[in-house]
Amino acid sequence: VSVTPAEPRREWFEVRPERLEWELAQFAERGLPATIARKHDGAMVIATELLYKGEPVPLNVAFPFDYPEVEPTVFGPPGLLPRHQHRHGGNFCLLERPAADWWPTMSAAQLVDEDLRWLFEDTAAGPETVSLGEADMPEPLSEHIHADPRRVALVPDPLWQLELPVAEGELITHDASHGAGQFISEAAGIGSCEPQLLELFGKPDGDRHAGRWVAVSEGAIPTYPTHRELLDAAVTASPRVLSKLKGRLRSERGRQTADGWIGVTFIEEGPRRRQWRRGWVLLEVRVDSNGAHVLRALRAQALTAKERGRRVPELEGLAEASVLVVGAGSVGAPVVFELVKAGVGRTVVVDHDRYDVNNAVRHVLETQWAGVLKAVGVAIEAEFLNPFVSIDSETFRVGSGPDASELLDRLVADADIVVDATGSHAVARILQGRCRAAGKTLVVVGLTAGSYGGEVAVFRADGPCFWCYALSQADELIPEPVSGPTTTTMPVGCSSPAFSGAGFDATALAALAARAVIGATGKCSYPAPDYDFMVVNFRGDEPVRRGRLPAHPKCPLGH
Ligand SMILES: [Zn+2]
Repeated sequence: VSVTPAEPRREWFEVRPERLEWELAQFAERGLPATIARKHDGAMVIATELLYKGEPVPLNVAFPFDYPEVEPTVFGPPGLLPRHQHRHGGNFCLLERPAADWWPTMSAAQLVDEDLRWLFEDTAAGPETVSLGEADMPEPLSEHIHADPRRVALVPDPLWQLELPVAEGELITHDASHGAGQFISEAAGIGSCEPQLLELFGKPDGDRHAGRWVAVSEGAIPTYPTHRELLDAAVTASPRVLSKLKGRLRSERGRQTADGWIGVTFIEEGPRRRQWRRGWVLLEVRVDSNGAHVLRALRAQALTAKERGRRVPELEGLAEASVLVVGAGSVGAPVVFELVKAGVGRTVVVDHDRYDVNNAVRHVLETQWAGVLKAVGVAIEAEFLNPFVSIDSETFRVGSGPDASELLDRLVADADIVVDATGSHAVARILQGRCRAAGKTLVVVGLTAGSYGGEVAVFRADGPCFWCYALSQADELIPEPVSGPTTTTMPVGCSSPAFSGAGFDATALAALAARAVIGATGKCSYPAPDYDFMVVNFRGDEPVRRGRLPAHPKCPLGH
């Protein structure tokens, strides 16, 4: 066995020396000095300078390993500019959209001579000019806090309200489930969270900590604050913020240190420029004989329905929607997940079947749900996707007798829309009867053999029906999706055939069905489906066909 050591990766300027020559020539062409200086790790740094308020400012342009795909960073003396420069690092914020505004055809000299020169000129002209030249991006203080990247503080309502009734109080925080860090459940004087949030986000066997919170006035914390500056601002705002920790240190003989949590809240810019919102940071503080210092700062994440909703404004209003999903299989389960994620206020999932471990090849549930009722597993997992909506499960077989019939009637009456994801025509016919009687829309979604294709059909209570659909397909008046060979596996026996087909096809169809359901609720501004049926072919050259469903002359319901 021979082992060949890997060739060390070479820096861009070694692989492409002509690019470095070109970069230097660009500096010369723009009348800027340029001297090569290597950083300690071997990366390229070019030293240059630029006039600011008539004085030359020394600058370092640092080139990343993957230059020119990745943009260079320009550093100046820290504290030179009040905005758009990192207070400690000294690097400037030059690209409006860092992810998209750098092109490898640009030169580092251009970045200095154009973007940095504009920033210098605007800054010299005064804050108003800087503001006019700024991108419409806020500069929230909490983004500039040096925080522990592995942990966050989950902060629920009502702690985000802009006006606080008091300025300090006791804080209750819990070790969070899923290793997220801390979950703040209560700030005395402001209020406490909804109990179900604590159930979901507090670690069952984790610790509960009693700390303090304090509101710090605007301007008391500098931009890019150090941990010391954060703690000083908290102590200045409330001299007693550390008294409990100090007391514990004094009262327990032999104790060297006392650790605790301090929530610091402030008003910051966001979510847009020149808008203002509340910000939080959670400090883990240690008090010892030398005084107090911050062990770590945790960045706050808002655990609120409002913050969720902000990310998809089109879905606002879905909290008023109620959807019944029948079938929690490879199509029904991802439909439920999408509805819940989108914020449908109430979702009920019905399935009588238990989860087979090998269904994980296609299903969204994990293997450890094997043997559990699918509807129950899907409902429990869905709660973690959105803690602000209600999800219930029912475990009965549609069409299994009078009890099932009665329960189904109640569930249909409570829903705005019913989804059939069972793939069974019998279930579709039963559901269609109940939906038409109750004046509800029915969405039927199903895959063809082998998941070669699928269909989503929307049946309005007063329109053509499932019969019309099936008969029109049989008469080739409307298209049918592509079907594969009917190869089913029967792990139990022929009474329970398992469907064959890929999970990604099932999930793709489920997404289309969820889109139709959300639009058809009429509760939000997401567009309603402009079709009655959509035929999807995952194979072949006609991926999607959709249209209006004609009433079939032979429909037994007389359409
Ligand atoms: Zn009909």
